[in-house]
Amino acid sequence: MASFLFPKTSLASHSCIANTRGILRESLTNHSSPREMELFASLPIAAGDRILITYADICEGTAERRHVLLDNYFFSCSCPRCQDPTEFGTYFSALICQRCRTGIVLPGDSLDHTPASVWHCRSCSNSIAYTDVSQELSSVKQKLNQAVGISGEESLEVVQKLEALLEDYQGKIFHRNHWLMIDMEYRLMQHLVGLISESVKFLQRLEEICLHCLAVANLIQPGHNSYRGKTNTTIQLLLIFLNFIHTYLFHFQFQPRYSFASHKPSWKPSSLVPQIRETFFCSNNGLKKFINTQRKHEIS
Ligand SMILES: [Zn+2]
Ligand SMILES: [Zn+2]
Repeated sequence: MASFLFPKTSLASHSCIANTRGILRESLTNHSSPREMELFASLPIAAGDRILITYADICEGTAERRHVLLDNYFFSCSCPRCQDPTEFGTYFSALICQRCRTGIVLPGDSLDHTPASVWHCRSCSNSIAYTDVSQELSSVKQKLNQAVGISGEESLEVVQKLEALLEDYQGKIFHRNHWLMIDMEYRLMQHLVGLISESVKFLQRLEEICLHCLAVANLIQPGHNSYRGKTNTTIQLLLIFLNFIHTYLFHFQFQPRYSFASHKPSWKPSSLVPQIRETFFCSNNGLKKFINTQRKHEIS
């Protein structure tokens, strides 16, 4: 982990539900000077509100974030998200009870992650020691690293491994919205975007994952941030893509939710594939190019 000291930015307090986001930039005036941090409001901030920034990885669960904060910044976070065992109703750290098979297992005290702390099922009397929760998590993290470590490139093999892990753990051992499951889905999304094709089944799976990641992100990291931005943009492009496929191959028994084209385009939907990839992986430039291409096609 890299650490920086920004005297002005450090005036903002940490929270795992921040109302700003910091962006590191090279110094605009002197390229040899250290980087600069720009702080943007990610949520509306009223006069008198505290300015909040996050030091932790908000895509991780409460125990993981609080350990990192304690080890690296020497404080124990007790923000509203850390105090809420359900993490705003997402169940981002929850397990599924292996006794009753349906109950949700949550920490008795979400601010206690000592080895002696106990997690309880909300449906039956089952209790689990935090050390067992932690061990289960480490074992799945290892499997995840092995799955994605196969290749740096987007590959079908990684997709199959990630799908197999989700099949084994999502909704069975971990809550469907558990942070590790969402992490797997987000990685799967990146691989699927890299391998994007005109297969409707493939695109529907990608759409399903994008919408799920976005629904959870809307609760735990609302406002303007890159995670929601990338996911949102990919969803919009996908829906447009699906719509064009539907319009182009009008015999498809698939009705996209998004209505964009009212006429049969004179070009193949596969021409959008590189732009979807570029938009997801790179930047706003991909989106601008995509919009320009749309306009050209609309005009012609
Ligand atoms: Zn917190
Ligand atoms: Zn139970």
